Amino acid sequence: MTYLPKGWKKTRLRIYARDHGICWVCGRLASLDSYDLDHVIARQYGGGDEDYNLRVAHPGCNRGRTPRRQKARLPWSTPSRW
Ligand SMILES: [Zn+2]
Repeated sequence: MTYLPKGWKKTRLRIYARDHGICWVCGRLASLDSYDLDHVIARQYGGGDEDYNLRVAHPGCNRGRTPRRQKARLPWSTPSRW
């Protein structure tokens, strides 16, 4: 992360508390030691650092969402029988 707005640490904790530490991608608890904040609307599309535009995500889940790797996400969860 190269861009850290003022008070980012506080923001991180606030969002973590708000989302109960639940990763929005996979719905599982993210570790307080290592979690990312994901922008609902990416900065490049005009999204800001306001609370409503941020949500908790595992670093891995967050990265897996980039278009380049989307195809490889959770292949084992696809039902094979129905
Ligand atoms: Zn996750």
